[in-house]
Amino acid sequence: MEGLKHAKPWIIEKHLAACNACEFAAAAPDTLIYNGAKVVVGKDARICTACDCLINTKAAMASEACPKQDPANPELSRWGESWKEPPKGKRWPW
Ligand code: SF4
Repeated sequence: MEGLKHAKPWIIEKHLAACNACEFAAAAPDTLIYNGAKVVVGKDARICTACDCLINTKAAMASEACPKQDPANPELSRWGESWKEPPKGKRWPW
């Protein structure tokens, strides 16, 4: 259940602001799984190309972390939180 816990609203806003300014953010590809997700989250869905997650979903989950270091401060992630190297191979399977 921890994985489904929502982050606080102001934390979600902070995550989304960072993702919206990030070069790893991109439009969700035209694949079956992402097209299915677009039905739920909207046709303008964007993903993090560093982990393949849907940004709106990732930003709202308390258990998620940004997988990339802040270029200005490698101790922090691009979300401004303590950065930990993500487990190798931890990407969504699509
Ligand atoms: S989760 Fe991190 S690396 Fe991915 S788009 Fe957001 S800020 Fe960029």
